[in-house]
Amino acid sequence: MNKVVIVTGGSRGIGAAIVEELANANYNVILNYYNSENEANTIKNILTNCGKTVEIYKADVRNREEVKGLINFAIEKFGRIDVLINNAGICQSKLFTDLTDDDWNNMIQTNLTSVFYTTQEALRYMVSRKEGCIINISSIYGITGASCEAHYSAAKAGVDGITKSLAKELGPSNIRVNSIAPGAIDTDMNKFLTVEERKELNNEIPLERMGKPEEIASCAKWLIENEYTTGQVISVNGGWLF
Ligand code: NAP
Repeated sequence: MNKVVIVTGGSRGIGAAIVEELANANYNVILNYYNSENEANTIKNILTNCGKTVEIYKADVRNREEVKGLINFAIEKFGRIDVLINNAGICQSKLFTDLTDDDWNNMIQTNLTSVFYTTQEALRYMVSRKEGCIINISSIYGITGASCEAHYSAAKAGVDGITKSLAKELGPSNIRVNSIAPGAIDTDMNKFLTVEERKELNNEIPLERMGKPEEIASCAKWLIENEYTTGQVISVNGGWLF
């Protein structure tokens, strides 16, 4: 049977590119979405019409019960989970001194606690099979820090901490855990940038452009397929900020 992969936040941007890459490589894909039902259905229809297997499931990754529903859905449909890709995330640009408790809590819940929930629930099915692969989409800002994104950077640094710890804890169970820490990728997350700001950003990046979602997706596929890589934070960033 083809490998079964769950992609959180698979309705748009990087997650959607990962869904497409893996469905086209004949993985059985469960696309998790939250608000973007139309986008999720469109992706499913396009890929299903090409003979690929994609199921969609609505769940708010901030909510333990909804995450349980997502994992149960995967098990009911396919009987196992081979790969979990924790991609769902939000960003917010705000002075640290202006952050409210709600800003902080929502950022940590969406970008960090969600990884705790999904990974713990999926591991119930991976550990018993002694096989699994977990990929966390963190961020270059978790490594470098970013002005006006302290809560985002803290959450993403936390994700990389989970990655490194679980790689050690789960290696003996033949479960690999890695992070991809993207640089600036051209998705809705960066649509607030003006033309001028995009130009300035491109000038800071040695490869002189933002990355494409597909360039993160191909790294995810490589991480699934390379069976001796674990505990790594791979920054796909065009040479930016290092
Ligand atoms: P995006 O285009 O804004 O897409 C975000 C995705 O996350 C959407 O599919 C959205 O689903 C989902 N999502 C958000 N909150 C959710 C929730 N509570 N429950 C379930 N799904 C939720 O962002 P992106 O650029 O593709 O980012 C994907 C990941 O890459 C994020 O973790 C982000 O931090 C990371 N990243 C991005 C960049 C970048 O430059 N773009 C750089 C570094 C890291 P719905 O629309 O269905 O709600």
